[in-house]
Amino acid sequence: MPDSVVVRKPGTLTLEKVLTGRFSGDDSFWVYYTDQFFINHPQGSNHSLTFAQYVKEAAIESWQKQVVEWDLGLPPDANRWHKFFINNTQHWYHGIPSTYSDTGPNRKIFLQYDIWEQNQNYSNEDSIIRAVIAHEFYHGIQWGLSSKTLKKSSWRYFTEGQAVFIQTVQCPKEEFIDEYRRYPLEAFKYLWESLNTSLRNISYPFCLYWRFLFEKFFKNGDTKTKLSVIKECII
Ligand SMILES: [Zn+2]
Repeated sequence: MPDSVVVRKPGTLTLEKVLTGRFSGDDSFWVYYTDQFFINHPQGSNHSLTFAQYVKEAAIESWQKQVVEWDLGLPPDANRWHKFFINNTQHWYHGIPSTYSDTGPNRKIFLQYDIWEQNQNYSNEDSIIRAVIAHEFYHGIQWGLSSKTLKKSSWRYFTEGQAVFIQTVQCPKEEFIDEYRRYPLEAFKYLWESLNTSLRNISYPFCLYWRFLFEKFFKNGDTKTKLSVIKECII
């Protein structure tokens, strides 16, 4: 696939590059990135392809685990092209300047090029990309199961709590290395700050509850069986 020019500002051109592949069946993925956004990355603009490959591997892993192995559902995409955009905070690349999972009929996941520089609690860049893509990818599955739920801010205890929780299932070694990864940080927050808070006002920290359900039910079952409790809740 040839590179295309997507960002036009007076006197500047940003060449967009794409990595593609197939998840399974009709579902394919497209990772969009540019060298220019990596100019300020510690490893320089040549690092863009490596970063994009990390995203690609994380996307494949998320599909393989969440869709195929655990049967959590299909993240619906109108044309079956699941898109991943590596952006930065200075440019509204494809409309979003931050790490984000878009709603709507097409799956679009955004990831900042400096996600690890901003979050060095994780072991390395690859491991934080895997955790974040697991999280954002799962939002797409939630969208497929109940788009109404995903839209409501009062249900963030549900959507964001579950998305942080899924990181612990997909990346268990990384999330439990110490208390500074996303899951333990949020779970401790729940215990310290949110115990007497209305669910309407809780978001990520409710991951503790979903992890509790996961550990409590079907103790001897495989991961797919244990996750069926979580899936049951969203339908
Ligand atoms: Zn989220």
